[in-house]
Amino acid sequence: MNVDRPGDASFDDCEHVLERVYEFLDNELDAATSDAIRQHLAMCEPCLDRFDTEQAVKALVHRSCGGEAAPSHLRAKIVTQLTVIRKTQ
Ligand SMILES: [Zn+2]
Repeated sequence: MNVDRPGDASFDDCEHVLERVYEFLDNELDAATSDAIRQHLAMCEPCLDRFDTEQAVKALVHRSCGGEAAPSHLRAKIVTQLTVIRKTQ
């Protein structure tokens, strides 16, 4: 399997995007990969729909805090990211 070659991966594929979208929100990805995901979400309404804010917050909190309630700064960061994406549509 072709593991972790950011910039080289195809983000035309919705599954690839959704797989990495939490890393994207958590700023774990390099700039090229983040841009590719942002562009895909801006153009792909189904992905944006599937990727709703509450779900993103929950998944990210679970990943990074082990299931505690979302810290407000984290929630704010996610909402901001999503707002930016939706505005670029
Ligand atoms: Zn998509």
